[in-house]
Amino acid sequence: MGTSLSIPPSLEEEFDVVVVGGGSTGCVVAARLAEGGARVLLLEAGPSNQERGIRRRVGSPFLQSVQLQTSELSCVYSTVPQEAAGGRASRWPRGKLLGGCSSVNQCLYVRGDPRTFDDWETRLGCQGWGWKSVLKHFKKCEHYHGDGNPALRGFDGPIQVTKAEKRFGLATREVCELFLAACEAAGIPRVEDYNGETQTGASVIQATVCQGVRSDAASAYLFDATRAARLASLRIVTGACAERIQLEELRARGVHFRLKGELKYVRAKETVVCAGAIGSPQLLMLSGIGPKEHLEAVGLECQADLAVGSNLCDHLCFPLRFSWREPLAFNPARQTSTLISRAQHALGKGGVYDFPPVGALCFCQSKVAESYQDLDPDIPHDPASEQYMREYVRRYAQTVYHHSGTCRLGPEGSESVVDLRLRPWGVKQLMVADASVMPYCVSGNINAACLMIGEQAATFLLEDHQEFRSDNGEPGASQ
Ligand SMILES: Cc1cc2nc3c(=O)[nH]c(=O)nc-3n(C[C@H](O)[C@H](O)[C@H](O)COP(=O)(O)OP(=O)(O)OC[C@H]3O[C@@H](n4cnc5c(N)ncnc54)[C@H](O)[C@@H]3O)c2cc1C
Repeated sequence: MGTSLSIPPSLEEEFDVVVVGGGSTGCVVAARLAEGGARVLLLEAGPSNQERGIRRRVGSPFLQSVQLQTSELSCVYSTVPQEAAGGRASRWPRGKLLGGCSSVNQCLYVRGDPRTFDDWETRLGCQGWGWKSVLKHFKKCEHYHGDGNPALRGFDGPIQVTKAEKRFGLATREVCELFLAACEAAGIPRVEDYNGETQTGASVIQATVCQGVRSDAASAYLFDATRAARLASLRIVTGACAERIQLEELRARGVHFRLKGELKYVRAKETVVCAGAIGSPQLLMLSGIGPKEHLEAVGLECQADLAVGSNLCDHLCFPLRFSWREPLAFNPARQTSTLISRAQHALGKGGVYDFPPVGALCFCQSKVAESYQDLDPDIPHDPASEQYMREYVRRYAQTVYHHSGTCRLGPEGSESVVDLRLRPWGVKQLMVADASVMPYCVSGNINAACLMIGEQAATFLLEDHQEFRSDNGEPGASQ
């Protein structure tokens, strides 16, 4: 058993750092700061993912993933009807428990194309966020259970990453092989490790799973028994929803939060907001940091006029259907071997339930297809036309839950909300660190990049506060 949850702090107590939100990024920030010697309080609105019943559900990702996203462990938001999506509204679940979305997501592990980070740095002026700079943080996060280039992959970090191929059921393996062969026939090369030197190509997936158990940010960073001793100066309060950051002369002094219906306040030298791409801009705005006109229109006094909440980014997907000549079950729920697969999963012996339903993927520039089939006969255009494809996307596109960009980082004068060390412009002792700071979505799933941002944020804070390290050099000894 690792870190234990703590009773709420007394009003008199001051922490070095309060971290708001125990999701993918918040767990990394809290753990790394505590390891570095800081006295840290982590406030999480939802419950712990270590409670027995919850741990069982969260730990079995692919038996439970869809249920988790519609259960009490998620906040399910809905967008307003989207004109570009034919007037449809989109459902946006967000994990509301320790681990955040990493506790309810589909576990695909994708760092993103190195060129994206270089683009952030060179074109958008985000100095220090290019591939060379972020790579060391990606490596720090991961324990890769595969053959990878040690210059590019990490092998002793907290997050367990496994390559799928050996643990697939037979049918899944066959479908993946056929998919990879089809990609090769279409001129898309196979890549052994899309999280290595180059992302472009087709590959079997990697997942934040080990022996069929989810490696979410909380389990990996906060509750791993081998790390517990290093986290002595960390306190975690669950069910604690931050309502406002206390700002005095544009310095963050502490956080007002609600716990079991009671309003409480805690003081801190630094406040780090890690409440996610929806929660972070909301909390900043409630604290008077946001677009002046908007804040004043809803009766909030504006203390720092910043473009909080704009620049919302996401990835969309749309389904394409293929018919198969021979009967072959890919959907685990329809496999004839379902019972065997469940038993294999329960015994940790591998099988289809050990990995996401996506078995293989391909990152490439799309080409114009040579033959078209009518995907939806109700669309009143020629299936080979651009209008047809546009209408198809309007009707069927849906989110893949990569909400980001709402407190984007950037250089001075760039409409950014936070500077290159993640500080909101003009506000001291405050930091934002989570998917909201991405200038735009990385190419791929974004959990790995959120973990990387957490590592980067903790490094910045420990550089800014040499005094967090106790006099005798022992992390946590200052308690
Ligand atoms: C259904 C789903 C499937 C996904 N699948 C994948 C995938 O397979 N692979 C992948 O790489 N990415 C996936 N993603 C995306 C990825 O998991 C998230 O983008 C990432 O986890 C976000 O991390 P974060 O730290 O920004 O925020 P979160 O992980 O959302 O953390 C925010 C935390 O803050 C807490 N919080 C919010 N407001 C407050 C408040 N006021 N006070 C206190 N606490 C608060 C929340 O409860 C939450 O725990 C998926 C996302 C979803 C929703």
